[in-house]
Amino acid sequence: MRNLPGTAFSVKIYQRHIIGIILYMNHAGIYCPVLVGGPIGGSSAKPYRGVMLVLKSTVDDEFLTEQGIISGSKLLKVNGEDICDILDWEYYASSDELILLFESIDGEMIELEIEPDDLIELELEFEQERVKVCRNQCVFCFIYQLPKGLRRALYVKDEDYRLSFRYGNYITLTNLTEADFERIERQRLSPLYISVHTTNEPLRSEMLGRDDIPELAPQISRLVDAGIELHTQIVLCPGINDGDELERTIIDLKQYHPGVGSVAVVPVGLTTHRDRLPKLDPVTPEIAARVLDRIDSISNANLRDIGTRFVYPADEFFILADRPIPEAEYYGDFPQVENGVGMVRQLLDSEPAEDIEFDPAVRITVCTGTLIENILSSVLAEKWRDVRGLSWEIIPVRNILLGESVTVSALLSGGDIEAALKQSNQKSDIVIVPPDSLNDDGLFLDDMTLADLESEFGMRFVEAEYSPAATLVKLKMEYGL
Ligand code: SF4
Repeated sequence: MRNLPGTAFSVKIYQRHIIGIILYMNHAGIYCPVLVGGPIGGSSAKPYRGVMLVLKSTVDDEFLTEQGIISGSKLLKVNGEDICDILDWEYYASSDELILLFESIDGEMIELEIEPDDLIELELEFEQERVKVCRNQCVFCFIYQLPKGLRRALYVKDEDYRLSFRYGNYITLTNLTEADFERIERQRLSPLYISVHTTNEPLRSEMLGRDDIPELAPQISRLVDAGIELHTQIVLCPGINDGDELERTIIDLKQYHPGVGSVAVVPVGLTTHRDRLPKLDPVTPEIAARVLDRIDSISNANLRDIGTRFVYPADEFFILADRPIPEAEYYGDFPQVENGVGMVRQLLDSEPAEDIEFDPAVRITVCTGTLIENILSSVLAEKWRDVRGLSWEIIPVRNILLGESVTVSALLSGGDIEAALKQSNQKSDIVIVPPDSLNDDGLFLDDMTLADLESEFGMRFVEAEYSPAATLVKLKMEYGL
């Protein structure tokens, strides 16, 4: 559900080397981290055109102004290569030799060669970058299950391999063109994250809601043969792709190991806004237990055969089935932690807070989704045990916006937290909201902000870090408690 519109950054070029790229927030509030390194070279074939870097300012550079390179000039090529988006820039501008081709606002072409002794500061800004979207109509698509009236960016069905490479967004391999494949191979856009769901093609068509999709296997083969590392996921829909279908999909994917590095199995998420959508069953505790048993027998066999479990159930399965969270060794190098696979283990294993003292008069309330309430409660009791003067309480927050079946913390809205606080009548000085419940613009799903909550309750609101100890350090550093 991420979007990647206009991205602005400034570039300093010094002695032929880029010494700094500073990315600013884009319009959707999504932070674009700087990619480090990257191989040089490649052909000039390009998948698409139309997105350009536009010079925003030259930081009062007289030389550039004389050349006609002023605000509004467009950067067309770097070292002869078209620059179509930020990935192209990062790929081609990592060269020691930099020849930049600009188009002035009068349409004149100006070439700028960066000499070793030059010190030039340019601020470049991407024009609106078109995100590739999907034409699928997946039976479980979360976007179709959102209530109406949320901000537009939340309804974008992105299916863009660039976002997969950059942010780990999952793609279904239903819209890659030959040029896209060539670019992925040439620029080695690896790893990529693939939503598989099933390797049974008729069933895949049914789940993706389309009968004109390209087959999965040849595409996976091609990417793996090109050395692109893939991590995959299966959204488990009870009665559709579980049981034997699940097992077959995992076994099929295992053929591509190590090119396919892992398979995450995540439970389907169902909101109360499924009007006119196919009927789907939720993952119940019994189903979760059955899925865990099935995955366990496959992953134990994988461990013997290929030295890795290869398939990992999401944390939610263990919590639903009321089973212990596996030890860290179970997850290997945690290849899918951001997909909720092993995240709870990392929380359990996080360092306790030490050498911190709080003002005993300060009361802290921790808000959390209902799924993890019990686990978080015992984790905080342990990790915060030795903090002197700390007084805290936890409150579970029901998801009213999406429905109570949505129990994860990151999907709580400001309104949900507001309602839970009113109901609890809790009087605190600090309220901690879950990590990742805010986007980079500081907005909850319903566009509320921490400031909105602060002005309503007269308490200070802070977004938690993933580690309990780091959250306390943040409170000390940023709020001096
Ligand atoms: S691929 Fe499926 S789940 Fe993802 S955005 Fe498209 S329709 Fe929704």
